[in-house]
Amino acid sequence: MNPEVFATYTYPNFANRSKISTVFTILKEYRQTAKNLLQYLWSIFYRGGKLPYRKSLNVKHIQSNLSERYKYVCLWQVYGIFDGYISNLQYQFANMVWRSNLLRDEKLILLALNNLKSWLKYDKDTVIIFDGGETKSVQLTQEHRRLAKKIFKHLVRINREPRIDKISMHLDKKVCDIVGKQPDKAKLFDYWLKLSTLERGNPIYIPLNKNTYAESLEGKFKNFYQIVEKNEEIVIKRVKELSKREYIPLTDKISIDIGLNPLFASNKGDLIGRKFIDFLKILDEKITSRMRILQKNGIKPKQDNRYVKLINRLRDFLKNEINRLLNNIIKLYRPKQIVIERLDFRSPKLSRRLNRLIQNFGKRYIKEKLRRLKGLYNVEIIEINPAYTSQECSSCGYIDKRNRKDIQTFKCKVCGNKINAQVNGAKNILNRSSINELGIHLSKKKVLKMLVERYLEKYKGCKSAALDTIVSNPYFKDYLGGILNPGRLE
Ligand SMILES: [Zn+2]
Repeated sequence: MNPEVFATYTYPNFANRSKISTVFTILKEYRQTAKNLLQYLWSIFYRGGKLPYRKSLNVKHIQSNLSERYKYVCLWQVYGIFDGYISNLQYQFANMVWRSNLLRDEKLILLALNNLKSWLKYDKDTVIIFDGGETKSVQLTQEHRRLAKKIFKHLVRINREPRIDKISMHLDKKVCDIVGKQPDKAKLFDYWLKLSTLERGNPIYIPLNKNTYAESLEGKFKNFYQIVEKNEEIVIKRVKELSKREYIPLTDKISIDIGLNPLFASNKGDLIGRKFIDFLKILDEKITSRMRILQKNGIKPKQDNRYVKLINRLRDFLKNEINRLLNNIIKLYRPKQIVIERLDFRSPKLSRRLNRLIQNFGKRYIKEKLRRLKGLYNVEIIEINPAYTSQECSSCGYIDKRNRKDIQTFKCKVCGNKINAQVNGAKNILNRSSINELGIHLSKKKVLKMLVERYLEKYKGCKSAALDTIVSNPYFKDYLGGILNPGRLE
């Protein structure tokens, strides 16, 4: 079974200064409490040799201005952090023991103690070790105990303590919840976040707007909220568990060529996201003209609300489109594998600034989306080497700069194959996924060599490109020894 897929989504909030300052007051107390709780967890860990179950912990005596309910919410977060920290030490412990030059039996005993997280205390005299497929009980010596403690303490020394002084608040329904529109308030906002404060019975309400993207994803919102401090503002996030449905693949592999016009082409000939570039062009003009004004007045773009809004629109657009269009591909073909080339999409039709922005955001969103598809449906993602996929003929394999008639069209100089340039790219991407030698890190030069040699080998002596075409193609310059041999050309 796949691990659950949880994701967090930001909900735009409109807290005024007074509410923000209330949140910061809570946050300050929350962090102080977290620090005390962590100290307390360490003390029981050292006293008892291990961490007790979370639910059996009693922290009534820990001083805090947070309500008891708040304190427990905080405890659960701190417990999670501490537990993660200990698990990491456990992992390092195992590595260290494996790589040591201890005797095999000693290693197995230490690993058994490590599995039980009993580095500091172990009550029994024997321990069960796993050797090959068998389990057996062995006697524990003082030396074993001493060694386990020593290694563990060493690891605690070399690993920094979990950072807790800057944590965000991970809150649940006990202290924080989303409520619908307030009957007596203006209908300006979609929701309100009701947040308990340090004053009992006196919550604050923070206006929120929808996150349509998060709400469009299939799944279930959990009753968890994150409140993050960022540049003296607060960011509010909701947690959603994305649903995994039964997924029976219909297609083995689908390859995608990522461009901007359209956004995706598949090896099946689909052109998906054809209006993509038009919207980007409009946005590009707006951003560029805004930038001009800002530059003239010496204002930093990040300080300008309008500019920030435009950039947010660009991000939302990219995110929504990438999500929607990849979902289409999944719906249409239900592939087992998706083959892509290294992500790189730019367009000469857009400004340098927009190309850079798209490059950054687009890459991130596609990666996130693919990761999610993997989590939800177990779709395997394969990356291939992108060199020359736009100049190679997907039908005969002939590779030539002149095969590109224009940005949209591909026409092979040799076999006459005429096809949308991006679909041609997608077909090449698919072919490459089954050529093992064409590794993703191979240099462009080596890729070219391999492709040209493959081509010449395939058509040795017959049906190869017309000689004048090949001779005038610089790519073939170094490989024509055999072809130019007159005996072969008859
Ligand atoms: Zn061809």
